Amino acid sequence: MTRSWIDEVKGRLGFGFARIPMDGDDVDYEATNVLVDEFLRQGFNYFDVACFYANNHDEDAIRKCLVERHPRDSFMLCDKLSMFYFDSEEQILPIFENQLKACGVDYFDMYLMHGQSAEFYAKYKRCHAYEIALELKRQGKIRHFGISFHDKAPVLDRILTDYPQIEVVQIQFNYLDYEDINVQSKLCYEVCVEHGVPCIVMEPLRGGSLVQLTGEAQEALDSLKACAASGVPTDNVSFALRFAANFPNNVVVLSGMNAVEQVRSNARTMRDPVPMSQHELEVLGTMHDIFQKQGKVQCTGCRYCMVKCPKHILIPEMIEAVNSKRVFNNENGEWYYIVYTMKGGKPLDCIGCRACERSCPQHLPIVKLMREATRYFGKFD
Ligand code: SF4
Ligand code: SF4
Repeated sequence: MTRSWIDEVKGRLGFGFARIPMDGDDVDYEATNVLVDEFLRQGFNYFDVACFYANNHDEDAIRKCLVERHPRDSFMLCDKLSMFYFDSEEQILPIFENQLKACGVDYFDMYLMHGQSAEFYAKYKRCHAYEIALELKRQGKIRHFGISFHDKAPVLDRILTDYPQIEVVQIQFNYLDYEDINVQSKLCYEVCVEHGVPCIVMEPLRGGSLVQLTGEAQEALDSLKACAASGVPTDNVSFALRFAANFPNNVVVLSGMNAVEQVRSNARTMRDPVPMSQHELEVLGTMHDIFQKQGKVQCTGCRYCMVKCPKHILIPEMIEAVNSKRVFNNENGEWYYIVYTMKGGKPLDCIGCRACERSCPQHLPIVKLMREATRYFGKFD
């Protein structure tokens, strides 16, 4: 297995293009240009895209904001074969060629089999997706090959055993999921170490859930701030990024950034991440239970669930509304509900087909949550 991709990455911060600034339904290209330029200026070079991020404009955005404005050798670009767009072997190559075209490149530095789980892995195997990707690598159209993963550790172990050619695994890794029985960040990390495969971290902030904390959760981080050594960044984001970076096999930590100050702040934290103290690790180890007590639904806002929803329900926004009600009991949930049911379907119209649940990397009970949203807010329908 070649590990040379690690030598090509500059710094340990990657730019996840899933949450770039939007202007209505399209990307705010000017604002995204500024972020891209600042990220490169700060000395980093790794970009991660997928065709359905940014309301299906992600690959266009990377072409316009990065590829057409910067030399090809100044950045590394990772794209993915997403599970939603093919059902047969014959569809894969045309999808790949379209992706190259959409991104405006001749090759991808990294190409991942997206969101692998036991179910999706079976489909990728049936369609020989891994073999096709490995052939593309032989042709030079993919420089490095890997997977992104959302399932239990034994499934990951099986995939890495079946395909020792895998050079990288993108895993969900943050202090909330570290010992979570569904996400299994710790166990998945250990499987990668056993197989000698480096990791790229996604969701270090758990879709933003670790940025704005409330009650006991924020008090726990405040207690860490109070005893932090001078020079150690003590904002909520830095704690989360440093946690991910504290594990040496996590070679790159992706962050979805939509403001230039975020790029600068993340760059400061990740340029030379300060190792976590034992006390910091112990306090962060209590956060999972605190969040459980607060009852917050752990949606990351990845939007995988929405790709096949026949009722076009804006599921993450509806979950956000439920969270506002459950955790904060404030009026934001009502506003969320009213605004977002004007743009998409209503939870009341959910037919319980569970297409969303089969795609949700967090294994959330979405049908139940849609019923809960209707219970709280149905009076506004
Ligand atoms: S179960 Fe409901 S929310 Fe989920 S995909 Fe089907 S209609 Fe949409
Ligand atoms: S419900 Fe699941 S799939 Fe949908 S946005 Fe939230 S975490 Fe992602």
